[in-house]
Amino acid sequence: MTITIEGLSHTFTTPTGRVPALRDVSLQIRQAEFVAILGPSGCGKSTLLRLLANLLRPMAGHIALDGLTPAQAAATKRIGWMAQHPALLPWYTVRDNIALAQRINPQPQRAVPAVDDLLALVGLSDFASAYPFTLSGGMQQRAGLARTLALGADVWLMDEPFAALDELTRESLTLELLRLWQTFRPTVLWVTHHIQETVRLADRVVVMSRRPGHVHTEKAIGLPRPRDDTAPDFQPLVRELRVALAAQS
Ligand code: ADP
Ligand code: MG
Repeated sequence: MTITIEGLSHTFTTPTGRVPALRDVSLQIRQAEFVAILGPSGCGKSTLLRLLANLLRPMAGHIALDGLTPAQAAATKRIGWMAQHPALLPWYTVRDNIALAQRINPQPQRAVPAVDDLLALVGLSDFASAYPFTLSGGMQQRAGLARTLALGADVWLMDEPFAALDELTRESLTLELLRLWQTFRPTVLWVTHHIQETVRLADRVVVMSRRPGHVHTEKAIGLPRPRDDTAPDFQPLVRELRVALAAQS
């Protein structure tokens, strides 16, 4: 799915005044591109994803997802969304959480993966009958990932999905996510404040300014995959992005 964002602005109105969150954001994202969005806390990253997912209406500007409005794209379940906490239903097993996502979002026009295949993809085959509260944070996020995959969505909006996990779990899950992206080829928007991770994952990194957020820098990451943190070209990119981010913090 290609995504076109033009002149997007959004301001929240609160009892204590107006909070401009985004100002004149324009971005062009290619089919199956993996874009990381990096920016200081409160710069509007989540707001941007919520606008794309049709959870908010923009106050100015334009969004097109393969030519559809966010409302149209969301209505046909072409948008997958994942945040820091997966919000699994506690009284359903892992298998039923995933099956339920498919049942309440039927996809007559598209083939969706079988639940058992999804469980295998995220390494939870042995935990299909487990209840969410018995799983570690990393396993709950795997289940959340399987639920996102279950919809067969064309775009994955990922709002710091692994930020609450320990470093090792986070690293292994990001590598798995990369593998799933290479298998399913969705367009990915990945919000993070982890600089190293953007260079490890993304085709392109978008650095946002502080609030009201706009696009400060875009950096294509041309390194071949699988990427190696110790490759000579890796750390200079991390440093360059750190400088760009620091200027915004
Ligand atoms: P980020 O995800 O980059 O940390 P957010 O998009 O969550 O930033 O928020 C951007 C700004 O908008 C922040 O100042 C935040 O307080 C404000 N904001 C976000 N959501 C709301 C809301 N529903 N009502 C009022 N202000 C909000
Ligand atoms: Mg956020």
